[in-house]
Amino acid sequence: MELHKIVGFLDVNIYFLVNNEQKTAVIIDCGTDAKIVNKKASELGVKISHLLLTHSHYDHSGCAGELQRQGVKVYVSENDALKLNNSDNLAYCFNKEFDSFTPDGVLYDDQVLELNEISIKVKSTPGHTDGSVSFVVDNFIFSGDTLFYNSVGRTDFPTGDFNQLKNSVLNLYALDGDFVVYAGHGRSTTLENERKYNSFVKL
Ligand SMILES: [Zn+2]
Repeated sequence: MELHKIVGFLDVNIYFLVNNEQKTAVIIDCGTDAKIVNKKASELGVKISHLLLTHSHYDHSGCAGELQRQGVKVYVSENDALKLNNSDNLAYCFNKEFDSFTPDGVLYDDQVLELNEISIKVKSTPGHTDGSVSFVVDNFIFSGDTLFYNSVGRTDFPTGDFNQLKNSVLNLYALDGDFVVYAGHGRSTTLENERKYNSFVKL
């Protein structure tokens, strides 16, 4: 597996998990602009097979409907699938009409997806939204808006809850060993750094 990243609207991180032999990619979050996603895919010479959403906020999921019409299979948790059809995706905050769609698959806690020979474990990490998930791949965690470098996600949006978020972050801290944490915005960090220095959720 080879990892690539592009940055979209509101500095959202869009991750490409590439199988170079197959020339395929799974992407984690897609941002709002299918053009930059497709441009990266053609630069890498890969076909995007699946899109996994950490949650349904517009900045992470805005172009998911367009990618689905292109043939990409889109997966999201059950609770955040609801936000694809209501205002909780926050598109209205940016004066945008959300491009609603029905996901191809539902994500749930401890599910293991085998996609393009890449093993991806789903961890339910509610709190930023009630359906937020993180993904564990090898020694990487893709944490969406749950855990950031020396910070955590906001909990003042609809369905947000700080106590839930705290538990979710503690559940990530409880994973065995160290991981590189690739967050939904901003720089990456390590789980060990966050266990030691995160001032919002302390061990
Ligand atoms: Zn968010």
